[in-house]
Amino acid sequence: MSNPTFRTRISQLRKRKITKKKIVRRGNPLNQRNNDDECEIPIIPGSVLDLFGLGDEGAAAAGEAGPSSALVGTSSTHHHHPPYHLRRKSPTHPVSPPSTIGAAAATASVTASPTTASPAGVSAATAGLPSAATNSAPMLSPTAAIAAATTYCPSMLPARKRPRRTYFTGDSSTGLGCNPFTAAHYLLYELPDEVLLTIFSYLYERDLCHVAQVCKRFYTIANDNELWKNLYQGLYEYDLPLFNPAPCKFDFVQPEDCDYDNPWKESFKQLYHGVHVREGHQKYAAKETGRSVAYFETIQAAFEYCDDAERPLVLIHSGVYRGQLIVIETNIALIGAAPGNVAENVILERECESTVMFMEGAQKAYLGYVTIKFSPPSCTETMQHHKHYALEIQENCGPTIEHCIIRMGAAVSVSGPGAEPVIRHCEISDCENVGLIITDRAQGHYEDNEISRNALAGIWVKNYANPIMRRNHIHHGKDVGIFCFDGGLGYFEANDIHNNRIAGFEVKAQANPTVVRCEIHNGQTGGIYVHEHGMGQFIENKIHSNKYAGVWITSNSNPTIRRNEIYNGLQGGVYIFGDGRGLIEHNNIYGNALAGIQIRTNSDPIVRHNKIHDGQHGGIYVHEKGQGLIECNEVYANTLAGVWITTGSTPTLRRNRIHSGKQVGVYFYDNGHGLLEDNDIFNHLYSGVQIRTGSNPIIRRNKIWGGQNGGVLVYNGGLGLLEQNEIFDNAMAGVWIKTDSNPILRRNKIYDGREAGICIFNGGKGLLEENDIFRNAQAGVLISTQSHPTQSHPSLRRNQIYDGLAAGIEITNNATATLEYNQIFNNRFGGLCLASGVNPIQRGNKIFNNHDAVEKAVSSGQCLYKISSYTSFPMHDFYRCRTCNTTERNAICVNCIKTCHSGHVVEFIRHDRFFCDCGAGTLNNQCQLQGEPTQDTDTLYDSAAPIESQSLMAEV
Ligand SMILES: [Zn+2]
Ligand SMILES: [Zn+2]
Ligand SMILES: [Zn+2]
Repeated sequence: MSNPTFRTRISQLRKRKITKKKIVRRGNPLNQRNNDDECEIPIIPGSVLDLFGLGDEGAAAAGEAGPSSALVGTSSTHHHHPPYHLRRKSPTHPVSPPSTIGAAAATASVTASPTTASPAGVSAATAGLPSAATNSAPMLSPTAAIAAATTYCPSMLPARKRPRRTYFTGDSSTGLGCNPFTAAHYLLYELPDEVLLTIFSYLYERDLCHVAQVCKRFYTIANDNELWKNLYQGLYEYDLPLFNPAPCKFDFVQPEDCDYDNPWKESFKQLYHGVHVREGHQKYAAKETGRSVAYFETIQAAFEYCDDAERPLVLIHSGVYRGQLIVIETNIALIGAAPGNVAENVILERECESTVMFMEGAQKAYLGYVTIKFSPPSCTETMQHHKHYALEIQENCGPTIEHCIIRMGAAVSVSGPGAEPVIRHCEISDCENVGLIITDRAQGHYEDNEISRNALAGIWVKNYANPIMRRNHIHHGKDVGIFCFDGGLGYFEANDIHNNRIAGFEVKAQANPTVVRCEIHNGQTGGIYVHEHGMGQFIENKIHSNKYAGVWITSNSNPTIRRNEIYNGLQGGVYIFGDGRGLIEHNNIYGNALAGIQIRTNSDPIVRHNKIHDGQHGGIYVHEKGQGLIECNEVYANTLAGVWITTGSTPTLRRNRIHSGKQVGVYFYDNGHGLLEDNDIFNHLYSGVQIRTGSNPIIRRNKIWGGQNGGVLVYNGGLGLLEQNEIFDNAMAGVWIKTDSNPILRRNKIYDGREAGICIFNGGKGLLEENDIFRNAQAGVLISTQSHPTQSHPSLRRNQIYDGLAAGIEITNNATATLEYNQIFNNRFGGLCLASGVNPIQRGNKIFNNHDAVEKAVSSGQCLYKISSYTSFPMHDFYRCRTCNTTERNAICVNCIKTCHSGHVVEFIRHDRFFCDCGAGTLNNQCQLQGEPTQDTDTLYDSAAPIESQSLMAEV
């Protein structure tokens, strides 16, 4: 043999372990003839015999001229290349007439060639069998060929193939005298495997099973994988073995992934009860023996034939089946049969009625591996056919439809109570309408489908339909991906929904779907759109990269949005507007181009336990009378404000952590109101809280720290009630009250500021009651009016201002104050320092134990600069030197006037806050009292990037 592949395979065949059990003898003549100890026959599964009509009962049945044996077509093994080199060397033979069957033919062949050359003997053995060269030949029964093989004479063999044992040679002139035992012996023991394999390759399944019972060797060869692959592919056309392990379950399996020794044979067996719809094959029905297969020309005929079958299976072969009525009301299985992509080669098509309809009774029907088209003659007629579909599933049926391609026209409708199909691995594309409509309380399972490029929505779920949808891929639709409305329900898990022209998932009108672990992304508008009393649970989805908001909630809708990742939107994360509601919790919302959460126009959602961060805009934006309960969120690292509240909005924010923003923490402006309670607001590049222009929030029990432009900034007519907050460790002021603002501050603790505790500037007012203001780097309270038309005039009552690193209260620049019952003590400079001309209203204040460090330094002859710095401005007498021609702005302390400018013409300007320019070295002369400031706090301000504040430098 020159074919190494073949050789290997044969040796494998020989090595294959065979179950050694005495066979239970059946009533089969082949068994009896070879009842020989050496020929111990392996057990052959009874089901195989039964399947091919060889069981005890089956054998009898096979003898009957039943309808199945009458409907036998031609062999199709010739469609496939012979797998062995050996076969290609087989000589061609004269075609035997169709009527020539049985031993007569064999005898004739053998008789015809007794005297010819040796190779002719081999030819005789295979004479009458169809060969590769005789494609269309009606064939001799393969059984006859076996009969021929068992009766020919050894002398016909080529010399080298002759058995080595001695044997009786009969009358070689006729061949009829051959000892039958010797011939059988030769066939059983001496005929090479390759030859047997070649002979067997011309057999159909039933004969192959017969010869498999002859002996162990025959059994092994007759179970050859390649033999069965050819038989299988000839009958079913599939490239791979297809298994039917359970009703409504058909799986292609790679042979090497299979547990069966011979997957092809097993698959062949599992499908053998099927009838075939195969054009042009019915006419060969009577000509095949060794096979019991029914062929039909139409699907309808196959249906009728299957009417009473126990497990009806119809295999529909390649072709376009146009206009056939396919209404399924039984548990029939209907499956495409073709090589290559099966579904693409088997096409069912209709023009005026639904192409395939499942109705009551089709509880366990199956449809797989076909293309289903509903194609009205023109597109304009699609609308007239709006009640017709490619696939229609009506009430009270639950067929399985899988691996189908549904294209063009109207696609799939599942409608009515009890409609519960399983639709999986189907492709629903390019339809002129909705891809999949589930309505009127229909249910069912929809898994792993590809739904794309449909003209309307990918899927509609409406009117209390309640499907389960998993792992579908819904994309590039020209409308929404999934539209749930009119009370539609459903459970949607792990679907990939993207690149749809409108929202990925739309919910409307009392619909209430549950959407879990889906990915909704790259939509041409928003991700999820819930409106008009829509509801729904959206849990653990990934919603990203949508062109508009990730989630839209509006018009009295109230969905739950929980534990989703909402990110990289080209607009906002969650957008609630127009009386929207909703529960938005435990989401991770980040990297969106607009606000993470936007609440607008009377919307009132609950927003809690979310992380809202790294947005290119603000974190939470509440405007135009937006409301909302916003609790326990972590809002951080956003480019604009962490929370913006404006234009008549009144949200409640509790226990949030708002931090590390690139601007303000919480920003109330243009009549922003609301309640800000128990929040931690820290580490912002601007202020922790800003209140502006008519805004009047209640800010209570918050901790506000680490603001680079102060803790709280109230300005431009801002109001607000600030109670019991802790405001500490801010650069610039703990609280700014500026430009006609008038907040109320009660019982706050304002401490450890890196500058003043409270600064009230430029028409700032405010009522400050019972606050503790302590350990601030500069004045506890600094009140000033620079060049503003209104005088700054706050009222301070019953505050405690103490332990300051500078003065307790300083009032300068024509500002004033009402100071009543305050306690000012233990500050490093004076308790109350008033610039020239300042005359506040005072009643019942207690000012005690302050350290007057400025006066002490001055009286010890030091320059004032020694206890100040460029940024600290202790209050003292401010002089100017005319001799040195210093400018209006340069101030010189009293000791420098006495020493450095001794004898110069000097003038007293006023008592005010300043540092000494002589000591600071900014004048032309050399200061004789020069020295480093005793406590320089400059470094504390290095990282400050003040915005919307006015430098204290300018005050002087
Ligand atoms: Zn000085
Ligand atoms: Zn001078
Ligand atoms: Zn000096």
